[in-house]
Amino acid sequence: SAKAAGKGRFHFYQSQLSEYLLMRVSREEALRQAIERDEFVLYYQPRVDAATGKLCSMEALVRWIHPERGLIPPSEFIPVAEETGLIVQLGEQVIAKTCAQLAIWRAQGLPPVPLSVNVSALQFNQGKVREVLAQYMARYHIDPALIGIELTESCMVADGANVPLELNAIRKLGVKLLIDDFGTGYSSLSQLQELDVDVLKVDRAFTKKLSQSQQGLAFFKAIVSMAQALDIEVVAEGVETAEQLRLLQTLACSEVQGHYVSRPLPADEVPALMRQRFLFPHLQAVG
Ligand code: C2E
Ligand code: MG
Ligand code: MG
Ligand code: MG
Repeated sequence: SAKAAGKGRFHFYQSQLSEYLLMRVSREEALRQAIERDEFVLYYQPRVDAATGKLCSMEALVRWIHPERGLIPPSEFIPVAEETGLIVQLGEQVIAKTCAQLAIWRAQGLPPVPLSVNVSALQFNQGKVREVLAQYMARYHIDPALIGIELTESCMVADGANVPLELNAIRKLGVKLLIDDFGTGYSSLSQLQELDVDVLKVDRAFTKKLSQSQQGLAFFKAIVSMAQALDIEVVAEGVETAEQLRLLQTLACSEVQGHYVSRPLPADEVPALMRQRFLFPHLQAVG
């Protein structure tokens, strides 16, 4: 009967739902354990001066080294971490590890290179980022000028009225403020100037369009010239080809990051990079 069929369907949905909940709970539990067991490591992706190939900074990117599954990329656990609020703890570990790594390289006598860390909107809105940064910079005696935080535009335009206040307090520590994935959100350049942003990281979708159409090129050019007028540096994300780099050089884009320059590297591969006189010779050859 129709009634029986309806009932069957209800059971079907119910079992799917509990399966979903079980999976969610177990993923949350797995992530919680991984944080406790300290299974996360940072990789570092260089950002270089587009004109000279000089290493300017590196971005810390988190990876989960799972005891059985091996290296797991952030796309597989950051969303769960955000859904469950665990991003706050994970984000604190990322800041702690970033400061600790700077102290290790300093102890090895390597020249200081600024690092930036990604901060998710939820972590930012929780309001502890300033405190956490201050705590670990003090613990490891890190010059705040060596630390930057990467926030997406969604953070900037959140209704949370305290965003400018909180950002100001963070800027007062002396750390740099970077806007990540710029162009995918809705912030205006004037907002960015009011918030005293140091660096715009233009989303890799726009780097891709750069070499595909005149319009793509014009769009990028507009961002670079407006940012210049506001004294904000521009980094192109996701640079994968010599052609993209050449075009960015003609636009006088300040810095580039992407596989064409270097993939994110494990910490133990960074010192060699620092010692090679800070230069990426293959970049200078272009243009
Ligand atoms: P993002 O901050 O925009 O980082 C750039 C991502 O693009 C990185 O992916 C990087 O490996 C990748 N990438 C770099 N160059 C190229 C390129 O030339 N081509 C392509 N196709 N991709 C490139 P990853 O490491 O998988 O990180 C993905 C995202 O996860 C990051 O995007 C960031 O939003 C988030 N994430 C990473 N680490 C953290 C963290 O510690 N905390 C938080 N909250 N989020 C993080
Ligand atoms: Mg980033
Ligand atoms: Mg980005
Ligand atoms: Mg991006």
